[in-house]
Amino acid sequence: MKKFSEQKSNLEVVAKATDPKASRRLKTECKRNGPPDEYGVVDLKKTNWEKQIIRRGIKIFQRIIKDLGMDIKFCPNLKYFHIISKKEMRRKLQEKNPTNGYFNCHAYLLRDHSPWYFVHGLFHELAHFVSYYKLQITLGDNGQLQYRRLINGFADNQNPRLDFNGFDEAVTEMLAIKARQLFASSKLLSANQKKALLTNIGYHLHVAFVEELLMQKTNNQEELMALKNKVFKAYILGQREQLFKKLRLDANTIAALKKMTTAKTATHRAIAFLGWPVIIV
Ligand SMILES: [Zn+2]
Repeated sequence: MKKFSEQKSNLEVVAKATDPKASRRLKTECKRNGPPDEYGVVDLKKTNWEKQIIRRGIKIFQRIIKDLGMDIKFCPNLKYFHIISKKEMRRKLQEKNPTNGYFNCHAYLLRDHSPWYFVHGLFHELAHFVSYYKLQITLGDNGQLQYRRLINGFADNQNPRLDFNGFDEAVTEMLAIKARQLFASSKLLSANQKKALLTNIGYHLHVAFVEELLMQKTNNQEELMALKNKVFKAYILGQREQLFKKLRLDANTIAALKKMTTAKTATHRAIAFLGWPVIIV
């Protein structure tokens, strides 16, 4: 089993404690094993099918990263993927409406859905997994660990407004779509299940908004692919500002992306703010 310290990662952990010895221990631990599971969830035993799907997913994303000309290993093994029940999700992650989630290098996945839905959700969380992540962990004097997410892909979590959060979800889903297409040759899903996997898009309005933004830059398909790859690279490396410069986005567009939350209505607001005609998807 590979350790975190053995791989080039895009996960940055700032570990702090008042006592310098405890601080060093925490840093070493995070380097060796990655951040601990903040929620201390009780995992359901993964089925062989789930293990196969997760391994296949990791391989597909590693291939995408390689094809982008990068050398980043984002996850060493299956233990960072937690299959948990709705009850556990509600109890530990305090989700009123339990859905899959990704926090601090751990993916939390629900089992009780159809196979395509599991793959669909897993690939979205895998995309979050490969994005740049900056996390602060503080060991309190009471021995408790406190977690503060600072940057998550393009999202800036350092203020309560969660700037660029909707933009981050759009790019996450765009990367997931690319990976799901690569998964299409797999025999792990039936033809009907694959159709459902490929035709359903999460955050579809957000995705349409970002696609439109890129299409305004070029109407050449090859250039569009190259632009998308630039977006994915910046997402993986945490280079939001550099990307905006490369894409030559004006201040209004950046302001629209900054304010766009994950709510559906947020995309309509961003469209109205930029004075675009309505996007129909
Ligand atoms: Zn997401």
